[in-house]
Formats: sequence, C-alpha cells, structure tokens
Amino acid sequence: MSVLSNKVAIVTGASSGIGRATALALAKRGARVALAARRVDRLDELAGEIHAGGGKAIAVQCDVTARDQVEALVAATRETFGPIDVLINNAGIMPLSFMDACKVEEWTRTVDVNVQGVLYGVGAVLKEMIERRSGHIVNVSSVAGRKVFPGGAVYCATKFAVHALSEGLRQELAGFDIRVTTIAPGLVTTELQDSITDERVKERFRNLPENFEALTSEDIAQSVLYALEAPAHVCVNEVLIRPTRQEM
Ligand code: NDP
Repeated sequence: MSVLSNKVAIVTGASSGIGRATALALAKRGARVALAARRVDRLDELAGEIHAGGGKAIAVQCDVTARDQVEALVAATRETFGPIDVLINNAGIMPLSFMDACKVEEWTRTVDVNVQGVLYGVGAVLKEMIERRSGHIVNVSSVAGRKVFPGGAVYCATKFAVHALSEGLRQELAGFDIRVTTIAPGLVTTELQDSITDERVKERFRNLPENFEALTSEDIAQSVLYALEAPAHVCVNEVLIRPTRQEM
C-alpha cells in the first residue's frame, strides 16, 4: 500500500496536462484528491474517471488569482476529506513574448497565476500544516526557473520566483517536519504553448530538433510521486527533469 493511501491532496491546474496526470496518479495510489481549475466541466469529467476507477475526488472550480477562491477550495477540501496533507501548486500559464512587444496584460497575468497563485495556495494551507506539524507542498516550476531565454523574460522571472519561494519555505518549515519540493520540467507536451500570441516565439517552438521527443505529463507525475512517496525523513528539494534531447 502506498503512503499516499487516504492522504488528502489538492492539485491546482488539474483540468489538463501535468495537473491532470498528477491527480490521476495520486488517486490511483489511494489519495483523496481535490481537483482545481477554472474549467469545471473538465474537472467533473476527471472526477468521474477517478470515481469509476474506485478512487475519491472532488471537482472545485477555482481561479488561483482570486485569494477568496483559493481559500474556498481549501475549505471545501477540508470539509469533504479532512485536513490537507499535500498541496500541489501546479496551475500556470506561459504566454511567452519578446519584451519589445510590450504585452503588459500578459506579463501581469503571468505573474498573477504563476506567483500570486502559488502564494495564495501556500497561505491557505500553511497554518494548519504547521499546527499539525505535517504536510508536503509541491510547487511546479520549470527549467525556465533556472535558465533565462529570449522571449521568456517574464515567464522565467515567475519561475525563478517559484524556486526562491520554495527554498525559503523549505528552510522555514524544516523544523515543523513539513516538506517542500520544486518540480522543474523541461519541455512537456501539453496545452501550455497554446497561450503564446507572439509569432516570433511560436516559430521557435515549431523548429524543434529532428526526432525530438518531449516529456509527457505522466513523466512529471512520476517525479511528483517520487517526492511524495519518499520516507518522511527525506525531503526531495528539487527535481530538474528534461527530455533527453533537450540541450538548454
Ligand atoms: P496546461 O496548459 O496543460 O495546464 C495548465 C493548467 O493550469 C490548466 O489546468 C489550467 O486550467 C490551469 N490554470 C491556468 N490558469 C489558471 C488560473 N488562473 N486558475 C486556476 N487554474 C489555472 O499546461 P501544463 O500542464 O504544461 O502546465 C502545468 C505547470 O507546469 C505550469 O505551472 C507550467 O508552467 C509548468 N511547466 C510546464 C512545462 C511544459 O513544457 N508543458 C515545462 C515546465 C513547467 P484552467 O484553464 O481550466 O483554469
């Protein structure tokens, strides 16, 4: 039996990609999972799939840029399943653009979802985790949180922030036996690139090397499981994971 059996987990951005695959993997290990995102129809469908497989899940519509909605998500999860053991801050957007395009609204939205959203999640679960001296927070960052590239200045800034926040949290929570893990993937095949509106950036993604095989969402879900299922005295601080053929 997995140590995740009966644990209570929240996954933000569970309506597609990495979040969806992670929620499914958690449910398969017996965790009770709160699925959060804005597209509730997709969450309902995923909850149905989990129930059909004998798992437990609830779908909660939540925009992570709204603090009251994140707090309501945590409250609904606690009411249904009990105190939160695991928070996976996965929701994110990546509308890459070159700075000279001055897509100021996209910059703001990227900061709001990728940084503010993570902070709201942490703020909503932290007190209770500290009181219980137990919990695991997983923040999904990116290779872009370690390396900057043209067209990625704002996105990279948000993911660098996620790394800094995770490490600060880890240091401060170590004494409470609360674990913090940063997952930093390279290119994963998901819907993430659909939000790119800058044609010059789109072009770069079209020109991937021959025979390039991106990671799958399931590859990342495995990394999350690796961190969550480590023995309690082991805190996997960071997983940096790239497709084998990804150089940068
Ligand atoms: P997807 O676009 O497939 O998934 C993004 C998820 O975030 C969706 O479920 C979306 O749900 C949710 N989301 C976006 N905005 C909000 C919001 N305001 N409130 C709540 N949920 C929101 O992309 P990925 O699965 O690839 O992305 C997941 C994470 O992985 C992101 O943090 C991303 O930065 C990171 N990542 C991805 C990489 C990749 O190559 N794909 C590489 C490195 C990191 P909805 O629209 O329904 O709200």
